[in-house]
Amino acid sequence: MKITLATGNLHKVEEINLIAKNYNIEFILPSENFDPIENGTTFLENAYCKAKEATKSGQTKLYLADDSGLCVEALEGAPGIKSARYAPTADERINKLLNAMKDKTNRDAKFVCAMVVINKEGEILYKTQQECQGKILFERKGSNGFGYDPVFFVNSQNKGMAELQAEEKANVSHRAKALKSVLEWLKNEIIE
Ligand code: IMP
Repeated sequence: MKITLATGNLHKVEEINLIAKNYNIEFILPSENFDPIENGTTFLENAYCKAKEATKSGQTKLYLADDSGLCVEALEGAPGIKSARYAPTADERINKLLNAMKDKTNRDAKFVCAMVVINKEGEILYKTQQECQGKILFERKGSNGFGYDPVFFVNSQNKGMAELQAEEKANVSHRAKALKSVLEWLKNEIIE
């Protein structure tokens, strides 16, 4: 079955395809430079904005979108839904975060991923929000992954996110947990 994946982020596409590799689903992208306006106030609202925008392609029955970000306890949940816009480049975003965390002893943080599945009419068929608990490191560690991975320590793995192999991240990340929840729902609900 084909599902439109409402993202323009190729790192996410790779991660999602790896997580879903044993399910019979082909994720296709809405358009080359898909860049919807995210004006929601929560991860779920922003995921819905992206999914709704993708329905304009009209190419599949179902549309899946995710919205994700990093929430840091000592920064009152920042950068949160603004994770992608915290600073202009990925490197600058990490520098800004490390700087904001310079004197903080509470390093607790979590990655959050909301996913929604909607139909062509924009009705929400399934939604979920999942987390991956960790801590903000004092400096970059590892070279895998993307975004804030180099400064995120994954509690359950006792390693930095950017030190995990792609297959390991595909078992423990916020996106992996959310997608597995979606895939289980799909398996039970949709018979093509
Ligand atoms: P989105 O594309 O609007 O969902 O923005 C997500 C932003 O949150 C990304 O640009 C990253 O900065 C950050 N982010 C989300 N998931 C991850 C992850 O798995 N690793 C590192 N950073 C992430």
